[in-house]
Amino acid sequence: MVRAAADPYLPGHGDAGYEVIHYDLDLDYKVATNRLAGCATLTVRALAPLSSLRLDLSRLSVERVRVGGTQPAKVVTKDRSMVVKLAAELPKGATTTVEVTYRGKPQPVPGAHGPAGWEELTDGVLVASQPYGAPSFFPCNDRADNKATYTITVTTEADYRVVATGRPLGATTRAGRTRWSFDEPAPTSPYLVSVAIGRLDEDPLPGAGDRIAVVRPRTLRLPTDTPFRRLPDMMLALESWFGPYPFPSFRAVVVDDPLEIPMEAQGMAVFGTNHLGPDWDNERLVVHELAHQWFGNSVTAPRLRDIWLHEGFACYAEWLWSEERGLTTADARAVHHRASLAGQVQTTPLSDPGMVHMFDDWVYKRGALTLHALRGVIGDEAFFGLARDWMATYAGGTASTAQFVALAKGCSTVDLGPLFSAWLDAVKLPKLPRVN
Ligand SMILES: [Zn+2]
Repeated sequence: MVRAAADPYLPGHGDAGYEVIHYDLDLDYKVATNRLAGCATLTVRALAPLSSLRLDLSRLSVERVRVGGTQPAKVVTKDRSMVVKLAAELPKGATTTVEVTYRGKPQPVPGAHGPAGWEELTDGVLVASQPYGAPSFFPCNDRADNKATYTITVTTEADYRVVATGRPLGATTRAGRTRWSFDEPAPTSPYLVSVAIGRLDEDPLPGAGDRIAVVRPRTLRLPTDTPFRRLPDMMLALESWFGPYPFPSFRAVVVDDPLEIPMEAQGMAVFGTNHLGPDWDNERLVVHELAHQWFGNSVTAPRLRDIWLHEGFACYAEWLWSEERGLTTADARAVHHRASLAGQVQTTPLSDPGMVHMFDDWVYKRGALTLHALRGVIGDEAFFGLARDWMATYAGGTASTAQFVALAKGCSTVDLGPLFSAWLDAVKLPKLPRVN
């Protein structure tokens, strides 16, 4: 049976017939040969009477499947997915476990935005799955709106450190291999589950307790002037604007390779060695990835068309931080980027940019400009109150553009309909409102 895609931007991903409540991932990985052997136990709940379920898993060989501990009626594996036909229909609301044993050489999942997911580095691994890379290393219901809790163990050569999504529960070494355990009790979308493996060490940052750490290549010292050292101050500033940091800790992982762009994951973000320098472009990326913990990771857009809610807020956090640091004000940055966007061609609206355009720079900048325009109209108190309400209302869940617009309209006596339709739904770039 073919069910409609959970997200129209990601045909072929996700199954709306069930939800995963918990993933238990036990991964054994050999860095030297890029060999992964995994056992994933998914606790699933039927959202409708369920006779079969579809899991996303890309180019890994399935060895064994058990449903509720017993053999299913049939398993059909394809290049990017597997369909498990159940021995007996699961009634709506009922739960069971699906255990999948699999192995192979994990590789990134190709797509409109290039390869995503498990990626071999020169000497290690990183996982950057947004938006379709999670099936590169575990079988999942690859829908951003199916958040689940996770326990993850990764066993690999003892020379390497493993950082993965969740609270570290310790590591044990036996016969030259170390088993690292993590536990993520916060609801997490599959694309935000990350693993980094490398010859890495972890440095706590002064003043941050054990809340913030930088993980860096063992051979590399954190420069004294790197923006990563500002993370504790960034955290305090973001909390003052958007409310409490939504997770127990944040780890900035610098892998031992240059990376084109950093990437956020739950409670962590992955950077390259090229992001350590003191220039503004690196500093803005550090605060941008930290801001994603609020906007994207804790409150997640249910569908990719709403991506501006992630990128607009993260970009706006850069501008706010710039002003906080005594650099260019948020308003001056808004004026600059409004002028720069005015000279560019845009063919789709911010509220539905299309899969191809969802990571275009204009989505980030117009998203931030939308927030700046909103702030100008409703004032600072209502704007930052709205941001904190947004977090308080939807933390740990998903929320769409329509839900944001509805919450904003409730925060102000001003009629915000024209502002939102001009910035979000029209293609033409509006002017920034005049604010006295
Ligand atoms: Zn971003």
